[in-house]
Amino acid sequence: QGKFYQFMMRTRQPSGLVTNRLYLVMDDLADKYGNGTLRLTTRQAYQLHGVLKEDLKTVFSSVIKNMGSTLGACGDVNRNVMGPAAPYKNRPEYVFAQQCANDIADLLAPQSGAYYDIWLDGEKFVTQYMENPKVTADRAFNGYGTNYEASPEPIYGAQFLPRKFKVAVTVPGDNSVDIFTNDLGVIVITDAAGELQGFNIVAGGGMGRTHRNDDTFPRLADPIGYVGKDDIFHAVKAIVATQRDYGRRDDRKQARLKYLVDEWGVDKFRSVVEQYMGKAFEPFKPLPEWRFEDYLGWHEQGDGKLFYGVYVQNGRIKGQPKRALRAVIESYGIPVTLTANQNIILREVEPAWRDDIQRALAAAGLAPVEELTAVDRLSMACPALPLCGLAITEAERSLPHVNERLTALLSRLGLGSEPLTVRMTGCPNGCARPYMAEIGFVGDGPNTYQVWLGGSSNQTRLAETFAERVKLANLEATLEPLFFYWREARRPGEGFGDFSARVGFEALRQYAAGYISE
Ligand code: SF4
Repeated sequence: QGKFYQFMMRTRQPSGLVTNRLYLVMDDLADKYGNGTLRLTTRQAYQLHGVLKEDLKTVFSSVIKNMGSTLGACGDVNRNVMGPAAPYKNRPEYVFAQQCANDIADLLAPQSGAYYDIWLDGEKFVTQYMENPKVTADRAFNGYGTNYEASPEPIYGAQFLPRKFKVAVTVPGDNSVDIFTNDLGVIVITDAAGELQGFNIVAGGGMGRTHRNDDTFPRLADPIGYVGKDDIFHAVKAIVATQRDYGRRDDRKQARLKYLVDEWGVDKFRSVVEQYMGKAFEPFKPLPEWRFEDYLGWHEQGDGKLFYGVYVQNGRIKGQPKRALRAVIESYGIPVTLTANQNIILREVEPAWRDDIQRALAAAGLAPVEELTAVDRLSMACPALPLCGLAITEAERSLPHVNERLTALLSRLGLGSEPLTVRMTGCPNGCARPYMAEIGFVGDGPNTYQVWLGGSSNQTRLAETFAERVKLANLEATLEPLFFYWREARRPGEGFGDFSARVGFEALRQYAAGYISE
């Protein structure tokens, strides 16, 4: 008997938008060809684990024929473009942000027909991103490079990018998408009447690093400038072209845009991008303070309908909750949106359906937001073992137990209702963005983790390594002194991440050294 090779399929889902039909197709595919579960990723897409090689074509073609796509979900190209998941109909900035995410995804989609040759035997299956009229005319590279107009890949040319490229779009104040962790972040700017004016641009963010290689590091994107609404595609293409032409190709660990921005500095980077763009950026527009949004629970859409943010632990939909979600989504014909925090939003809900939907989901174990623990609500983990070949440790399977223990510890210290952002990954690649968390666990050896502290609750400050090779058996011993210190010395309302960053790791360590458990 021969070997059975299995694969993971990831979808392309700008802003996490999923039609009702595609949801049902994905649910079926997970049962028929996957491992019976659906995985919602931290970049608002699906991952289907356990697809056998012989089933790949059936699975891919099913997705494509149901108006889904996997194009650009992996590889050295632009990946899934994130956008704020809330389906507000009466807040134009959200509508613009989701449209912009879709347009950028289309703009940067690979143009080769190979994708359709392989998965559809060359059948010309017309999909939205192949004929987005807003983008089609703009995709030509128009002098942004050498002879790219003549290439089937006007933006990527013959070599594609040095490494993957990640884009997120959001609106002022809403940092649900972790905007600063992206190669390119786009922030919609409207006027007082809600008319689209232009976009603030940040660039050079990224999470991935390698243990014991100090030349690799997580980095926050820097403000680059502002462009008017007619120049957004030019700015995006110019930044991608700069990375394409100057990003390192000799070392994949140094190939992300963040290393180029770091090496050059923001001023040089901006100036090179401006040469491609043929005009200067305007000064970055002032923004309000960022806040983290998870959109869980019931909300008004703004058009008389409701949306319901449903918590999915670590984004893994399986078992009874999977059956209940499917039943609700199918019987009411509901479209959904995947959030950047691995949750799912049921959209277009008539107010009369609300109680029945909530009851059906709660009966299957999908608890309403009021019943979540503070730690569970804000936590994320990557798939790690046994699903990811790069994993050193557990993450998805460990985090629920870690959360329970953290919740018990915090409750014992009288801190049980404090929001706390906990993120865990099985390796330093950082897919669940642990370096932005108030407590980040990053697998660094057999059953051991680095503990990163000091990220902010609105994901605007990087955490730093507090401890290495911590065994989960020592979780309470490591964190109890720090939580106690936080309780005793924090400023009113100060979160654990802000507290850790303010007092500094030296003070935390000194306090822990003299701590005697209550
Ligand atoms: Fe990403 Fe590493 Fe987790 Fe794999 S183990 S999903 S590469 S963070």
